[in-house]
Amino acid sequence: MRAVVLNGPNDFTTKDIAKPTIAADEILLKMERAAICGTDIRILEGKKTKDIRYPSVIGHEMCGLIDQVGDQVTGYQVGEKIAVANVIPCGNCFSCLSGRENACMNRTALGYQYDGGFAEYVRIPASCIRAGNLVKLPDSVSFTAGALIEPLSCCIRGLKNAGTGFNDTVLVVGAGPIGLMHVQLANIAGARKVIVSEPNPYRREKAMEVGASLVVDPTAEDLASAIKRETDGVGADVIIVAIGVPSLVNPTLKLCRKGGTVCLFAGFAGTGECTVEVNTIHYNEINVCGSTAYKRSDYLAAAEMVKTGKIDLDKIATHVFKLDDFQEAYQTCKSGSGLKIMLEP
Ligand SMILES: [Zn+2]
Ligand SMILES: [Zn+2]
Repeated sequence: MRAVVLNGPNDFTTKDIAKPTIAADEILLKMERAAICGTDIRILEGKKTKDIRYPSVIGHEMCGLIDQVGDQVTGYQVGEKIAVANVIPCGNCFSCLSGRENACMNRTALGYQYDGGFAEYVRIPASCIRAGNLVKLPDSVSFTAGALIEPLSCCIRGLKNAGTGFNDTVLVVGAGPIGLMHVQLANIAGARKVIVSEPNPYRREKAMEVGASLVVDPTAEDLASAIKRETDGVGADVIIVAIGVPSLVNPTLKLCRKGGTVCLFAGFAGTGECTVEVNTIHYNEINVCGSTAYKRSDYLAAAEMVKTGKIDLDKIATHVFKLDDFQEAYQTCKSGSGLKIMLEP
């Protein structure tokens, strides 16, 4: 089968590898659509190496059809359309037992310890099936939307960690695919206003299209004055940092209201270090939270929102490339000219 094989940092190519064989308690998925995530780009470039094997097949946002079902697996049929929650929590560690399975200390995941979605076929390990990580999708949900349930569930986790709710003014910093999901979710959560800061004009336009109340170009307009004006001088209730630029953290903290929350959602570039004027946090009683992956309940919620048409993920996917054109897909991702870049066999 064709697969994008990662041999090492900045060394990846599409080639033929053996089609996976499954054990009696496993499922083989025929990939129909996989999405390239910002994290994948960091993995490809060697900027994220935790749990990454060389050579391996990465890709953790995928949807496809069941191709084979092991004899011992019940409840699944060949031909069913499924989306896969790639993160498998251990269920026994401190994090899992204290209600934070998304931050499982022994997690395994497709696209990391197990080969992922940038291939024609994906072996779904027994632990993944047993954990309830497969979601069946109706015909009405596209393969693209199915693949994007994974990042959507991460965004649900981020907004929940930030405590986003009714009547909040939410600032989303960065209108990439993830920022655009946050815009839609913040509206669903009951936000009064969703303000987006984004220098790219195409992405600003998309942000308005998916429901932003106001978009600001921070290179042309002072974001701090805009937030002051829009919040009667109070500051934003919730701020989602959806772009991994460490130097943006300090100025962003100053846009938050007293007692508000800043969620550092993105994975940050480089060492992730930056200078923070900590008295901004101290005197304003700002809550700073992180967010990693998703709980299975977030994934199921995301799938339900997609199935019921509450959220439009197809709008966020702009390009589809064949696995064989992966280099071009990678360059398109890097250029920022599109939004979600999808792969198909
Ligand atoms: Zn991702
Ligand atoms: Zn665990």
